Amino acid sequence: MPNVEKLIIIGSGPAGWTAAIYAARANLNPLVFAGRPKSVPSTILPGGQLMLTTEVENYPGFPEGVTGPKLMAYFEQQAVRFGTRIVTDDGLNPDVSNPDDGHSAKYQDCASVDFSRRPFKVVSEDGTAYHAHSVIIATGATANWIGLENEQRLARSGGGVSACAVCDGAMPIFRGKELAVVGGGDSAVEEATYLTKFARKVYMIHRRDALRASKIMADRARNNPKIEIKWNSVVTDVLGDDSIKALRVKDVVTGAESDLPVGGLFVAIGHTPATSFLKGQVELDAKGYVKLKDPYRSTTSVEGVFVAGDCADSLYRQAVTAAGMGCKAALDAERWLADQGVH
Ligand code: NAP
Repeated sequence: MPNVEKLIIIGSGPAGWTAAIYAARANLNPLVFAGRPKSVPSTILPGGQLMLTTEVENYPGFPEGVTGPKLMAYFEQQAVRFGTRIVTDDGLNPDVSNPDDGHSAKYQDCASVDFSRRPFKVVSEDGTAYHAHSVIIATGATANWIGLENEQRLARSGGGVSACAVCDGAMPIFRGKELAVVGGGDSAVEEATYLTKFARKVYMIHRRDALRASKIMADRARNNPKIEIKWNSVVTDVLGDDSIKALRVKDVVTGAESDLPVGGLFVAIGHTPATSFLKGQVELDAKGYVKLKDPYRSTTSVEGVFVAGDCADSLYRQAVTAAGMGCKAALDAERWLADQGVH
């Protein structure tokens, strides 16, 4: 019989680390697959989406704000302090005392899972099989980006490019400016409407001549005097050295390109849950989000497999909601393990 872990946690964003903190404090000795940096765009990083965020001003407990990477380093340190173990290339926990030392490069990613029988099997990218009585999936969802080099550069440097207006829109750099939102769905309308609280004007740049957003949301955008929709338009470049100055916008009907001066770009073209490795193992919805068996719990279609964070939440997608779900998943796993006689 292989060595069987009580709990494996897959993912290292707010949901994964919070689950680890609670599970470690409940003596479940959790083992975390934190993931490994992937190439941009659609970056997946250990630490999740917050690793792409500069200033986090809406996470409670940080009245002066905190950078996304620092916040995730604090989560990780707290999880390790209570005995969480992390799967790395050399099998050891990294030294997490210095958040800037690049230790995340040594993390092993999870390559595949087998939830068809218990104990569950989780295989790392180097082919090592791990077994566990229970698993928490907390792999998150990545914001989709347009895929432009300058978009990514300015998103990483805090140069006024973001994929979350609720997270970043209230920052002083955007106040009183003309801003742009790319996308035509409910999120784009929601972000544009939110930004009108701070901005002088918000352009919605949409690639077609009709919004995808629901009628009520579409009407909200059309009726807001601060929102101007640029139809049939795509962004072909983001201009600016240290901070965004303008967008190069192409009219897809005429082919004409022009520069639109803006002080911020918010990309709202959907999210992709990081769940492709789970296909056939646990029930996913049509968009790939893990289905909750009970909306008030963290249970999935597989008994003993729990889920937390953005990979099961296409709506709220906030660090604090993900952390809350991580707590629920750890408590659910602990109770389920106790019922199974695993303490
Ligand atoms: P979405 O509905 O998939 O919309 C994505 C939008 O981005 C579409 O307009 C799409 O254009 C555009 N797009 C996709 N790829 C693009 C690209 N490469 N370049 C330019 N544009 C691109 O995603 P979402 O708005 O994030 O919404 C996700 C789900 O959450 C939806 O079910 C939505 O109803 C729900 N939601 C609801 C609310 C609410 O009710 N308050 C708020 C937010 C989200 P096309 O239209 O041409 O495909």
